[in-house]
Amino acid sequence: MNDDRALVLFSGGQDSTTCLAWALDLFEHVETVGFDYGQRHVVELDCRPNIRAKIEAEFPAWAPALGEDHLIDLKVMGQISDTALTKEIEIEMGENGLPTTFVPGRNLLFLTFAAAIAYRRGIKHIIGGMCETDFSGYPDCRDDTVKAMQVALNLGMDSRFVLHTPLMWIDKSDTWQLASDLGDDALVEIIIEDTHTCYVADRTNRHSWGYGCGTCPACELRRNGHENYRQRRVPLPAPDLV
Ligand code: ZN
Repeated sequence: MNDDRALVLFSGGQDSTTCLAWALDLFEHVETVGFDYGQRHVVELDCRPNIRAKIEAEFPAWAPALGEDHLIDLKVMGQISDTALTKEIEIEMGENGLPTTFVPGRNLLFLTFAAAIAYRRGIKHIIGGMCETDFSGYPDCRDDTVKAMQVALNLGMDSRFVLHTPLMWIDKSDTWQLASDLGDDALVEIIIEDTHTCYVADRTNRHSWGYGCGTCPACELRRNGHENYRQRRVPLPAPDLV
């Protein structure tokens, strides 16, 4: 197991693209894994190769570290989940206090499959964009869940994986800021133009923060985060000279 090798859970969205940049900045060899789980916004999977190609072209310092991409067929998840992300179900708050977009077990399976790939490829570090700061309440995005998975995976595979979640304690505006810190305006531009977040797969409406319907919970989070990030970047007005 190699300490310089990392695997990023890379969906093609804003968060996982920022995680990919974070990993490329830190590790010598970074592979990516994506999952086709029957998501309605499967368009995000089409974004993945474009994002990788642009990062490779525009960031010569990171390009040599960018390794293989893995796309895993997990359509079986769509068969066993009745959720607004995998079926034509209204996005709303469920009786259990969780939005209907919650796909039970999704991150648990993603991490398990990622670890199985990492095991085979001698990769020690696994990076995911889970965040419990401004999340939708998904219990599998919580830090406790990820830490428990790290223990379970290491016990079950007799390994020493380290699970990293660089976005866990920051909000969406900080995630925009992190992208800017890592890759400046060039990376922010790739995130706006090439990543996909919208739950209903809208890529026809282009906003200042990227493509999307503008009203689903994922678009709202992304838009509000971008607004706050932009406001923070506006320099303070010069004090009045008397
Ligand atoms: Zn949307």
